[in-house]
Amino acid sequence: MRIFAIRRRLMLAVMFSVAVVVLNLLTIRYLAAEDWENVNLWALAGHKIAVDPGHGGVDNGASGNGVVEKEVTLAIALKLADILRRYGAEVVLTRDSDTDYYTRGKGGKRNDLLTRVEMINSSGAEVFISIHVNSIRGSAAWSGAQVFYSPNLVANKPLAELVQRALKSFPPGNKHQAKQDKDILILNRTNIPGVLVETGFLSNPGEAARLVDAAYQQKLAEHIAKALAHHFSQNVGR
Ligand SMILES: [Zn+2]
Repeated sequence: MRIFAIRRRLMLAVMFSVAVVVLNLLTIRYLAAEDWENVNLWALAGHKIAVDPGHGGVDNGASGNGVVEKEVTLAIALKLADILRRYGAEVVLTRDSDTDYYTRGKGGKRNDLLTRVEMINSSGAEVFISIHVNSIRGSAAWSGAQVFYSPNLVANKPLAELVQRALKSFPPGNKHQAKQDKDILILNRTNIPGVLVETGFLSNPGEAARLVDAAYQQKLAEHIAKALAHHFSQNVGR
């Protein structure tokens, strides 16, 4: 009897392990099967989205290899807004030119961000995307788009992971994971789901060159739009 009991336990353990492996394979297949080329962008129709091009005006943002962040964020955000509108979405941009909301004196930068937060919160949008570009002074090694989210709303994490998956080929082999960050004001103070996309690193010469390339910007914008379309098609009726 003891031998049978051990065998049964062993069998159960083996069956459990097999089930775990199969489930993992199915998950991997599901993730691999997310076909970003064929996402139906018409799922965007009728939805309202806020797009925030980071920095602007007096605030260049990060810089590297002769490129300033505020120009890249605006270029990508305008391309994203174009795509979203083309597929029937309503778009609210926090800025559509080289401008800022800084106030004079101390707290100027904070007031710029709080103005953007207020614009997003009062926009009636369902989600927002804040576009940024990273740079690490003195390091050319880092590259790749990364998505940040606040834990404030439960919808933020799945949205961030979705956008991150949509950006897995920026650049190809991009291994970054969506990351929680409690200290980003635009993510903390907004009251609708949203994420901040660091589209790449200006400190990396190759990536800086790609980020100013209109075709690369367009592809990036397309993939963010596809993630949003995917988000809305998953959340039908909510
Ligand atoms: Zn930035």
